[in-house]
Amino acid sequence: MNMKISVKKRIAIVVLSLLTALIVLTALFFAIRSDYRFLIGEKLAGLFRSAKTEPVTAGECREYTLDELAGLDFVKMDDSLYLINREYVLSDSYEPTIVSYKDVLMSESIVDAYASLAQAVYDRYGTRLYIRSSYRTAEEQAEIVDTTASDVAAAVGASEHQSGLALDVYVKGYAGSAFIQCEAGRFVNRECWQYGLIIRYPHGKTSVTGITYEPWHIRYVGKPHAELIYLNSLTLEEYITEFLPVDQFLAYGEYRISRQSDDGALQIPEGADEVVISPDNTGYYIVTAHMAS
Ligand SMILES: [Zn+2]
Repeated sequence: MNMKISVKKRIAIVVLSLLTALIVLTALFFAIRSDYRFLIGEKLAGLFRSAKTEPVTAGECREYTLDELAGLDFVKMDDSLYLINREYVLSDSYEPTIVSYKDVLMSESIVDAYASLAQAVYDRYGTRLYIRSSYRTAEEQAEIVDTTASDVAAAVGASEHQSGLALDVYVKGYAGSAFIQCEAGRFVNRECWQYGLIIRYPHGKTSVTGITYEPWHIRYVGKPHAELIYLNSLTLEEYITEFLPVDQFLAYGEYRISRQSDDGALQIPEGADEVVISPDNTGYYIVTAHMAS
């Protein structure tokens, strides 16, 4: 009898010791790896946050042809919502509007968003947000494909860098995957939506984007799209092809958003004081109307 108890006790002691060791090691691991702590925190937070849109009747809408829209003061036409991936590649005739900002070539659309984000990083952490890679021509992308493993570099036409809408960023000492091992990198990942930017290849969405987590690759989509994408834990693929219904209007705060068929004319809500129109590279146009209050 005594013998039995002691064996049981021994087993219990061994099991308890193993469990304690496991807990201590796990705690140590997360204490050291701020990047994993961040990713798990973000995953958990994602479960509890969402941004609701409401389907609305377009109300009073006016139909304009694309030519008419190009001549209107309150309408801006850009390519901020272009979906670019292996399935939806850039056509040979695609020509982005590229400007030079502090000697770096990028899309005109991302300049203000990047500048504000970089300023916020500097104000908070006293560190500069640098750009490692920005706009690439098709020829430059082809060269990268030739010199890198084919599964690492996106094929010509499938890289967002050819649009100039994406930037690879870093801070001193923390580039690539190590970016989220520092406060500034985690801030960029957590808050870039406030500036109209998204982490284009989020963690755990490789099956959708075809690309593993890139905490350094930021992409301009504009407001309020970045907010809807981040708060609903979506990828750009999911947002454009699933979240936005075709030929219907969604209301989100002061915005009315719709993904419309390309039949030569678009519906614009009356009372909008600012409208952005972008083709989405899948055959539709996305109309983002800010309503005057
Ligand atoms: Zn990139």
